Amino acid sequence: MQILDGNLVSQATRDELKIKVAQRVAEGKKVPHLAAILVGTNGASETYVGSKVRTCEEIGFKSTLIRLEESISEFKLLGVIEELNNDPDIDGILVQLPLPKHISDEKVINTIDASKDVDGFHPVSVGKMVQGLPTFIPATPHGVMLMLAHYKIDTKGKHAVVIGRSNIVGRPMSILLSAGTNPGNCTVTICHSHTKNLKELCLQADIIVAALGKPEFVTADMVKEGAIIIDVGITRVEDPTKKRGYSIKGDVKFDEVAPKASYITPVPGGVGPMTIAALMKNTFHACSEKN
Ligand code: NAD
Repeated sequence: MQILDGNLVSQATRDELKIKVAQRVAEGKKVPHLAAILVGTNGASETYVGSKVRTCEEIGFKSTLIRLEESISEFKLLGVIEELNNDPDIDGILVQLPLPKHISDEKVINTIDASKDVDGFHPVSVGKMVQGLPTFIPATPHGVMLMLAHYKIDTKGKHAVVIGRSNIVGRPMSILLSAGTNPGNCTVTICHSHTKNLKELCLQADIIVAALGKPEFVTADMVKEGAIIIDVGITRVEDPTKKRGYSIKGDVKFDEVAPKASYITPVPGGVGPMTIAALMKNTFHACSEKN
């Protein structure tokens, strides 16, 4: 069993970007600039946005964090996005999800200029991804693909079971794994909350991507010997033994599944850091395409 070390691969990706940014600076070219919008004060969202901004600094990107009140109207938020769309210094725009209930995710995503859609959620980006055209790939599944590529894992012809069909993780993951690329070329089964024989399907899987948000859902009895396990889940579980009052759990019961797996991502330190690395790659791309 080999651990797929997201911290290590993410660092390698960030180091590569750092060099590329330094090269751009030396050539007098524009430095990539990411704008992040955070609405409200959700603890997990604060953590995610914070690490995205810190990573920008580490790599040498410019970043702008725009904090907005939880009560901001949808109209005003769309106005802020329009301003960023029209600002030539901004290369990438991300709006941290989830948004308050009175704001439509769909309207927000559709308002972002597709050429600045570094999260890859805009319908134009999704459409291009489905057609296999160059575009922004959503950061988490993009990060998983970068990790598979880094470890030179041969996915061709393998049966991948993706648990979860969200627009952010499960669905794009299923599209990328089934694409005629390397990594890719998998036969994909996508499972969701209405899937009936999930355990049987998982037992047939050469690759399992768990992205359902249910801590330790995937247990050893659901996993075939030698399977590749990608754990996307991140859930805060109450834990009085921790100073901060919670611990982070993945969707896979790591201790019992790891001995059966050929490769496995830990939580934390697996897919999470890869997500940020992929977002940075998208932001670099957004800048270098135009400048
Ligand atoms: P979501 O709630 O939008 O989607 C969950 C999906 O799981 C749904 O499609 C649902 O049908 C499916 N599901 C729920 N219960 C199921 C069950 N019992 N059996 C089969 N399918 C079931 O969640 P999401 O945004 O896709 O996120 C999933 C998990 O990944 C969460 O824990 C989230 O925190 C985590 N996440 C991690 C990263 C990262 O960087 N590592 C990024 C995004 C999301």
